[in-house]
Amino acid sequence: MTSNGTTNSIMWFRRDLRISDNPALNAAIESAHVGGGSVVPVFILDPALIGGAGSKRLAYLGRSLRALNESLNNSLHVLIGDHVEVLTELKKRYSATTVHISEEFERFGVERDKRVEASGISLTRTGSPYAVSPGRVRKPSDDTPYKVYTPFYRAWREVGWRDPAVSPKKIPLVTPTANDRNFPDWALPEGTTILEAGEKAAHKRFAYFTKNILDAYDQTRNLAGMDGTSRMSAHLKWGEIHPRTLLAGLNNTTAHDTFRKEIAWREFYADVLFNNPKSEYEYYAPRFAQMRYDKPGKKFSAWCEGKTGYPFVDAAMRQLLTEGWMHNRTRMVVASFLVKDLHLEWQHGEKFFREHLIDFDLASNIHGWQWTAGCGTDASPYYRVFNPIEQGKRFDEDGDYIRKYVPELAHLSGNDIHEPWTVLDGYLHDYPERIVDHALERVESLARLEEIKPPSE
Ligand SMILES: Cc1cc2nc3c(=O)[nH]c(=O)nc-3n(C[C@H](O)[C@H](O)[C@H](O)COP(=O)(O)OP(=O)(O)OC[C@H]3O[C@@H](n4cnc5c(N)ncnc54)[C@H](O)[C@@H]3O)c2cc1C
Repeated sequence: MTSNGTTNSIMWFRRDLRISDNPALNAAIESAHVGGGSVVPVFILDPALIGGAGSKRLAYLGRSLRALNESLNNSLHVLIGDHVEVLTELKKRYSATTVHISEEFERFGVERDKRVEASGISLTRTGSPYAVSPGRVRKPSDDTPYKVYTPFYRAWREVGWRDPAVSPKKIPLVTPTANDRNFPDWALPEGTTILEAGEKAAHKRFAYFTKNILDAYDQTRNLAGMDGTSRMSAHLKWGEIHPRTLLAGLNNTTAHDTFRKEIAWREFYADVLFNNPKSEYEYYAPRFAQMRYDKPGKKFSAWCEGKTGYPFVDAAMRQLLTEGWMHNRTRMVVASFLVKDLHLEWQHGEKFFREHLIDFDLASNIHGWQWTAGCGTDASPYYRVFNPIEQGKRFDEDGDYIRKYVPELAHLSGNDIHEPWTVLDGYLHDYPERIVDHALERVESLARLEEIKPPSE
């Protein structure tokens, strides 16, 4: 209790860097109200979190924290150190009786919260980063989790979600000291630009998407060269907007339903990871661990640098390097190329994405990779080998996407840009030659699959 008899509450922000539709923040405000006190908003910079993130993601986080601070009237505490020590000190200093959080479901977050609770600090969990929390959608027939997306989707809709939480009109806030204001100054690497961070930016973009893109989303979402998707992934990753908010205004048209289904993929993968924690690093379908793979070498470096000689693949990898984001269509194409054309294990690509994506999400990344590699949650997987040339022709017909990211090919027409080896001036500006022959590698990849096939198949 403070000297004037009031008690405060701590709001520990983690993957929920927003004010609106934030049930944990509302609970913290309510606790403060009961105690006659204020809310202590804090974000703890954890060396483990920082160590694992690439520079673009850190730059994004730094900007997101500043945006949150602005919405909190400059009262956000940004503290570096051990969670238990930081929270213990804050509790004592502010006479705070409760610590409020959104619930975490991934291994790292769950273990961190357990450790905090083991130290004697109790955490009040309200809400989570999902419309339906992982673990809640189960088969009515035998109470086991779903392994296949489509039935999960149906059941997920039946479980349903609440309307967005009411946004607080006024938040009573404590005043931090200068020592509490350790805002990181993580710079963006030269030559890179990232999406605008923060809750306001998320709402602005979502309003734009709703007005201009959503009604045709089912037709635009695969076209890599146009602005045809929501770009909500980084905002969702940091909780600058909640999926409930995105789902709230959707109707039952094909376009809206397609968008709802994409949100559901994020929830499905979170559920799969929750029920299969080892799939974070192990093959979801174990027999693929027995497959013959190559070791990463020069070809892997060419993939990382966007110099494979396949224009659609290279454009995508360069988009990742310069923007920290990649279109979903090309995420599948480059992932397939790494596993099926270069014969490398999916974990190499997953790690590279993890380093470079501003929207890196453990479950979506791991299971996006495993799905494309053919060892994930899919019924007839491995035979699907993406053809990087045909995919480019189909989903970047005029070559605008390639032209934007691969200047060496900008002089080529839409007809020629997907196969620069077929035209005389294809290599005029030193575009690299193909590092492998896709047709041959496809055959090789299927031959390796034969080797691990169970005798009955
Ligand atoms: C190999 C691979 C790795 C991926 N890694 C990530 C990752 O680290 N983080 C991440 O957020 N997404 C990942 N995805 C999924 C998807 O590519 C991105 O969510 C999407 O491109 C983000 O752009 P958007 O917000 O404009 O998507 P939209 O098309 O507007 O979709 C709306 C939202 O639905 C969700 N969503 C859409 N597609 C998928 C999907 N296939 N799987 C899971 N959720 C989906 C995302 O939250 C997305 O923001 C990965 C996909 C693949 C194939």
